[in-house]
Amino acid sequence: MVYLIKDVISHLESIAPSAYQESYDNARLIVGSPEAQVTGIICSLDVTEAVVEEAKTKGCNLIVAHHPIIFKGLKSLTGKNYVERTVIKAIKDDIAIYAIHTNLDAVHQGVNQKIAQKIGLSDTKILAPKKGLLTKLTTFIPRDNSEEVLQVLYQAGAGIIGNYSHCSFQTEGEGTFLPMENATPHIGSKGKEERVAEKRVELMFPAHLQSKVLQALKSAHPYEEVAYYLHPLDNDHQEVGSGMIGQLPEAIPGMDFLQHLKKSMGLQVLKHTAVLDKKISKVALCGGAGIFLLGQAIQSGADVFITADVKYHEFFDADQQILLADIGHYESEIYTKELLKDLLSQKFSNIATYLTNVVTNPISYL
Ligand SMILES: [Zn+2]
Ligand SMILES: [Zn+2]
Repeated sequence: MVYLIKDVISHLESIAPSAYQESYDNARLIVGSPEAQVTGIICSLDVTEAVVEEAKTKGCNLIVAHHPIIFKGLKSLTGKNYVERTVIKAIKDDIAIYAIHTNLDAVHQGVNQKIAQKIGLSDTKILAPKKGLLTKLTTFIPRDNSEEVLQVLYQAGAGIIGNYSHCSFQTEGEGTFLPMENATPHIGSKGKEERVAEKRVELMFPAHLQSKVLQALKSAHPYEEVAYYLHPLDNDHQEVGSGMIGQLPEAIPGMDFLQHLKKSMGLQVLKHTAVLDKKISKVALCGGAGIFLLGQAIQSGADVFITADVKYHEFFDADQQILLADIGHYESEIYTKELLKDLLSQKFSNIATYLTNVVTNPISYL
């Protein structure tokens, strides 16, 4: 079985849709052609020249990374910094670079779930679910066709709420119409008012699937003109957002938890605020720079908040309400490469998929 780079991307984006990335992000195929045949994949947190060299040595022509190597516009490619040199080397060696970044941070099965797994948390939920990602479709279908049309809408990704699929609400009623001069009606005839037993069907879908869902509706619905309404919803999307909360199997003292955290995440060092006189059972976390979630972590009743890139004055904001731990950006997200490898090997068992051996952390500890 031959797979193209675009097949790999479409699989990864079925898990972490590109529409879920932040506006400042650049998660996409950054170097290479989507039509190229995949010879092997290297999974990495960052892309550096050493990672490109490793890909070449291992016979891989695709690097799947979390952090995008190009983050802002490049106006020249002369090799004056590591970004330009990495891109030039990838082009010369014919190695594609794909980045799956804040979209993978945002989904439940993404970066934060991997951290939660390492720490041993259960009952994980998104800490700050996102709004504005859901739309409601209301449409009217002749009663006899409603089941068939609904199945096509479910296939297109409509009707999923959390762990439930096929979610819809249906009411029976009567639809009226009068086919005008240029109509070719499925039911009735020109110039004559018609009354048909119809179902009013309501169901939700992720907003980024709108054109797919409408296309499905129009292809399956028997009418020449399909009546429907779209309503953007203000609901939170429970499966998409920032950070994560979860439960430890049992409450443990703060210092014991920090030791457990250090061991389970393989840390050389971690920074933390004063250990409080209460046991830790509820854990909030966010891979990478997540201090913007401190308020929500406190509000959620978490006993500890784990993130990275915390500045001096931001440690004060924990204010004895929560134990705050900064474990380092690289350290918090390094297991993302394992997540990527697992997602890829499950789907593409005949493509050689590797974890990078290159330590891309630019920070050393003395
Ligand atoms: Zn991240
Ligand atoms: Zn990051």
